[in-house]
Amino acid sequence: MQEKESKPFTKKFKKNYTVSIKLPYFLESPLKREKTPMKYIIGNWKMNLSLKQAEALTLGIIQFLKETPPSSFSCMIAPPFPFLERLHTLITHEKDLLSLAAQDISAHEKGAFTGEVSASHLKEVGVKAALIGHSERRLYHKETEPLLRQKILQCLSHDLIPVLCLGESLEIRRASKTVPFVLNQLHEMCQALQEMLISKPSSSPPLMIAYEPLWAIGTGCIPSLDEIEDVHNALSIALKTLFPKHIIPLLYGGSVTPLNSSEILSLPHVDGALVGGASLSLETFLPLLSSASLVNR
Ligand code: PEP
Repeated sequence: MQEKESKPFTKKFKKNYTVSIKLPYFLESPLKREKTPMKYIIGNWKMNLSLKQAEALTLGIIQFLKETPPSSFSCMIAPPFPFLERLHTLITHEKDLLSLAAQDISAHEKGAFTGEVSASHLKEVGVKAALIGHSERRLYHKETEPLLRQKILQCLSHDLIPVLCLGESLEIRRASKTVPFVLNQLHEMCQALQEMLISKPSSSPPLMIAYEPLWAIGTGCIPSLDEIEDVHNALSIALKTLFPKHIIPLLYGGSVTPLNSSEILSLPHVDGALVGGASLSLETFLPLLSSASLVNR
């Protein structure tokens, strides 16, 4: 049987980028994006909080989630490694409400890798997802794309959801090269893994993407809503091309607070948020979760 010829699709974005993507023939309407059934909020606690504080924060989040309409959004927390087991015990009966993510994962299966934490270790303490390629890991630990691909592979072969972080530096943003840059980051990561990702059941996301401009992380500066939407729109087209069967959640991260979360989460191509600073206290995280629960899908 002869395959129909795919037509290159070109889209012009608000900031004068033009992205040309060769779409598979079976994608009739490249811009018609299926939305995720819910919003995803991930709190990245980084290297913060004591165990007592982490327990109190987790219990406060659970209490809030119990009082919130179910299934309007999904919430995950990414605590420091040593707290995972304790928090897993704490949320054992609340697994439908709150799940655990790891802030990183080893690229290796097991063995002589001092200080590293493997995918099977994470599975044993109830972890569901792992952040991959957070800009702080890329910068401070010199994580490279081949290494990150190995980490994604580890996640996929252990049924963990990789949350792949992408984002541009201020220099790239100023040179108006953001969209091509993040598309390239996505392709570098996903093309090699396409087959493995595609073979995952389409009922659950095999992968999540977090678009996090480096200059917005922990700075209080965020791109304009149009700029966020431009990048997410481009990424969603690319994801639809790479993974036509799956709906891949596309999160925004970088200085999300309760003051801006409603408008960011209301953007059509934003399926959730990766939250750093504002996830560290109930005073900021609960109003942010509340805004996620109010956004219509
Ligand atoms: C992050 O580190 O992933 C992050 C988004 O941090 P913040 O929300 O503090 O900018």
